[in-house]
Amino acid sequence: MIENGRESKALKDKVVSLLKSKGNDLTELYEQADHIRKVHMGDEVYIRGIIEFSNICNNDCLYCGIRASNHLVNRYTMTLDEILAVAREMPLRQQTTVVLQSGETPGINDREIGNIIKMIKAETSLAVTVSVGNRPREIYRYWQECGMDRYFLRFETSDPVLFARLHPDCTLYERLDCLYALKELGVQTGSGFMIGLPGETLGTLADNILLCRDLDLDMIGIGPFIPHPDTPLADEKNAYAGEEEMFFKALAVLRLFNPDAHIPATTAFDAVFPGEGRNLALKRGANVFMPNNTPVEYRKDYLLYPGKPCIDESAQECSSCVLSRIESIGRKIGLGPGHSVKMHRGKK
Ligand code: SF4
Repeated sequence: MIENGRESKALKDKVVSLLKSKGNDLTELYEQADHIRKVHMGDEVYIRGIIEFSNICNNDCLYCGIRASNHLVNRYTMTLDEILAVAREMPLRQQTTVVLQSGETPGINDREIGNIIKMIKAETSLAVTVSVGNRPREIYRYWQECGMDRYFLRFETSDPVLFARLHPDCTLYERLDCLYALKELGVQTGSGFMIGLPGETLGTLADNILLCRDLDLDMIGIGPFIPHPDTPLADEKNAYAGEEEMFFKALAVLRLFNPDAHIPATTAFDAVFPGEGRNLALKRGANVFMPNNTPVEYRKDYLLYPGKPCIDESAQECSSCVLSRIESIGRKIGLGPGHSVKMHRGKK
């Protein structure tokens, strides 16, 4: 639905006011987000295992630790056999989705990525999510034909000027065109944004949340901006430095406006709130957990931001930790693939 100008301003004002919640209002916001999550998504927490299969990227996003200009990074690409070996183990750890993630130009071509999707689909019961950046529609369609279930591509910020400053290699509109192409193809589509990019205002954050709603996404991933020391933003601060509660407020408000999207408790929450960030995220609107399955020898080379947790734990250790964290907050493991709730309800 396209609102007129007055309605959309009122809506944005409402989001900004929710983001300013304090005291009892804040407690109520978190309770409401948790309630909406329970009503629309249930108590199941779906476990999607990530494989960071290559850290090679030609792009130079200013905030990213594996940007092309960071020559301190040791570049790697996992072999097909290595990727398959990890994927085969995942169902044994109650993981029902594999998320294949890499830089935008990994060390393998798009056809090889298609082959990996086909082999994972043939050999395992896993749903396959791919997250490798902007591509032409034909490539998304090809991967869909290979068996890809979902695609994840964050827009990072809804402010086109801020987007242009941070992304020398593409525009916000090119990124959004990719998302529209995926939706049109019927691929379950995920996107999201960073919270607190330098130059962001509360108005931008509200627009980010409302853009997720307008895109009618199946999955939404958000996480705080954390400056990486080997990037041009090394000396910048998160726009909400000193008021980190904003990260959770953003998550809770996101859930209010996107009641039936899958929302992960992303690892970056643990980087800011060690040991409890992701648990708190699950209590404030999130319903997905994404343990890292990348072999330990590669993990230290896939640092999009510093302080990333779980870089020394094996996939088995990560998995046990995840299961006990979910049980500790009284939730259950999602046993099915955790496909789009919207598609199941026949909305699309
Ligand atoms: S954010 Fe993605 S596209 Fe940008 S430099 Fe990092 S890996 Fe490449």
